[in-house]
This record gives sequence, C-alpha cells and structure tokens, in this order.
Amino acid sequence: MSAATGAVTDALRDLHARFAAVDEGELADYIPQLALADPDAFGLALISMDGHRYGTGDADAPFTLQSVSKPFVYALALDLLGLDEVSRWVNAEPSGEAFNAISLERRTGRPANAMVNAGAIVTTALIPDAPGAPRFGRILDCLGRFAGRPLDVDERVYASEVVTGDRNRALAYLIRSNGPLPMDPVAAVETYFRQCSVRVTALDLAAMAATLANGGVNPLTGDTVVPEPVAAQVLAVMATCGMYDASGDWLLRVGLPAKSGVSGGLIAAGPARFGLAAYSPRLNPAGTSVRGQLAIASLSRRLGLHLMHNPALAGSTVTLVTTADDLPLAPREERERARYGRVAVVAAQGALDFTAAERVLYALDEPDPQDTGAVVLDLLRVTDIDTVARAMLRSGLARLTADGRRTAVADPDGRLREAGGGAGAPRCFATREEAVAWCTAEPAG
Ligand code: GLU
Repeated sequence: MSAATGAVTDALRDLHARFAAVDEGELADYIPQLALADPDAFGLALISMDGHRYGTGDADAPFTLQSVSKPFVYALALDLLGLDEVSRWVNAEPSGEAFNAISLERRTGRPANAMVNAGAIVTTALIPDAPGAPRFGRILDCLGRFAGRPLDVDERVYASEVVTGDRNRALAYLIRSNGPLPMDPVAAVETYFRQCSVRVTALDLAAMAATLANGGVNPLTGDTVVPEPVAAQVLAVMATCGMYDASGDWLLRVGLPAKSGVSGGLIAAGPARFGLAAYSPRLNPAGTSVRGQLAIASLSRRLGLHLMHNPALAGSTVTLVTTADDLPLAPREERERARYGRVAVVAAQGALDFTAAERVLYALDEPDPQDTGAVVLDLLRVTDIDTVARAMLRSGLARLTADGRRTAVADPDGRLREAGGGAGAPRCFATREEAVAWCTAEPAG
C-alpha cells in the first residue's frame, strides 16, 4: 500500500472502527423494501480530485439513491434549461421542513427548493422528454456519468415505492393545483420514484460528489458531466438545503455541501478537494444516516474541512520586488545600469487567481507609487493564470501604461497577450532581460 493510500485508508478505517458500534436510529420502513436492508451495513468512501479511490467497510455494497438523486437531477435540469428557467419552477430557499413536507410558496405554489420532495418532483418533470431521448433515459444516463459507470434500477425498491408513494402523489397533485407542474402528476412521480430507485454503492456516491467538487468533471473518467457554473450552483443549494430541517446546523458544525437519502446514503463535497460518501441505513429522525453523519462530521473536524475556515494561504506569490539595477545582467547591458534604476521589476510564481493577482498588482506599485518609471512583470515561474487574474493583470498593466509608464511582461507563452492586441495591451517578451532592455531603450522615432 502506498503512503497516500495508507494514510487516507487509515483515516477512513479509523472512522469506521469508531462508529461501527453505534446502533442508534431506525431503518426507513415507509418504503417496505428499504426496511429489508442490513441495519449493520456501514461503508465509507472518498475520491480525490485526481481520481484516487479510497473505501472501507461496505463501500461496495449496493443500495438505492433515494434523495441523493435530487442534486444530480437538479444539475441536469440546470444544464439543460439554465438557472433562470429552473428557478421559475423551483425556488432555492431552505424550507426548514422535513423532506416530504408541503414546502410550497404561499402565493405561487412554487416548491421551496430542489432538495425536498416537492421541489425534486418538479425538477424531474422539467427534464425534457422526447421519443429519441426519453426523460428517464436522460436521467439514468446522467446519474451514470456522475458515477463514472452505467447504473441500473432496483425494480423491487421501485415497485415498493410505487405501492406506498401516496404522499408524493398527493404533493404532485397539490403542486399542479397551484400551477407549477409542467406534466401529469402521476407520470412525474413515477419518474421520480425510478430515479430514487437507482442502485449505487458508497464508492459510486463518492464519485458523484467528487464530480460536483471537481467543477462538473468526473475525476475518474475525465467526462465533463455538467459545466462548472452548474456544479457550483448545485453545491450552493446542497449547502443550504441538502440536509432538510437540519441544514443550518449541518453547515454550522460540519461546513460541507451534503445530501442525505432515506436508504442510508450520505454525500459531502469539499469543493476542489474531494467527494465523500457514507452508507449506513439506520436513520435519525431527520432521515439522515446516523453513522454516516457522525463519520463525515468527525472527518471534517479532524481534517479542518469546514468551508468557512480560512483557506490555507497560498505560498508566496510575489517572489521579487526590486529595480533592474539590482539584478544580475548580461555584460552588454552593464552599460545601461544607470538607466535601469528606474525600472521596477516584480516577479511572481505559482497559480494566479484573484488573491494572487491582487498581490501582484499591489507589488507593482510598491517600489515607489509616485514613480513614473517603467515596470517589468516577470511571469516565468507562473504556472497558471485563471480568467479573473488575467483580466485583473491586463487592466492593472493598462492603467500603468495609461499613466505614461512603460510596461513589459516576461511572458514567453503570451498568456497576457490579448487577441488583436488592445491599445493598452502589455508588451510580452521571452525573458526578463529582454523586457528590461525594451523598457530602457530610447523611444523609437
Ligand atoms: N424516495 C423517497 C421519498 O420520496 C426519498 C426521500 C429521501 O431519501 O429523503 O419518499
């Protein structure tokens, strides 16, 4: 076993050992087939953004998705229709109520959010249905892409839910009586029951959560299941509504977007970090796996995963703030040294995002904010520049240019170059020396 496999698996095993003896909670029995589950089953799984899979206990045991299907069908609806259209039908407010409550807006009858049954039934009904692309086929295909393998339906659980699903049917009729249900209530609920009856394992759930955490790209298959903004929207609704009437307390104590289901599945996502899943069918009164909740809460505490914790500050972004006369220069340029005193040089490293770009721009002003001399930004050791950082650096450099300062960038790959080269676009050079030399050269003409 490698070092990482050992360390992560050990952490999961440790949690498993700590909570396996907890036997509080009851199996869901309002869907009779769910009451037949092994009450002692307990699996934990984690999948990293690199697609490394870790599991312990019953991480391979099959069970049905139930409400854990809701965020993924919501993702499909958002992808196909967009946030504005989906929000016309389903709101995104925490209901503070149980999963099967009549959580409908007073005036419009719009369900509170897509994580409670009322909202999930409407979300399912929003998925387009066409002869070549039937509604449930699209849903099953999408769930499988999130999991990274084709999934199937547990027909016994489905049949059991159809027989006992009157409350959900009643909800669907109630929603239609208020207006917002774009299809026949019976058909909507039956498709919803089928999505709840899709069979998965804890490892599948971890892959599904990891795909959301990874900006919509499945880290096992590399498949872009939904665009990044959709993944972020789904995580936001999971964070505020994913644990029903315990959502606020969960966000407060555990601090991770999560979704529970009555078969005992529970997912949590650490954005840009991991997907986590637990399976243990004994539920607390809110309908959440008792052991799953304990294990995920404990892992979050132990590894400092709470979303609202200060993220670890990135290693230093700005590695050098000086003037060119302090730099070792090629002999040819020695003669120019006197003039180099007026060239500010700032070097950056690593991946540049908003925070890093702000630091770089601040450093560009630092040697002497009143200065009118030239400025060189050295990006040779920068590994990545996101779109926000690129726009910030371009506009910061354009401002310096507009102030009459010569600005040059050591940027051999031309990452700051603008298509069509805007008026204020910075000059890009292959090396820092070339950038400095250009800044000190006599103006042409
Ligand atoms: N199929 C279940 C229902 O609608 C899902 C509920 C849940 O998992 O919370 O009753």
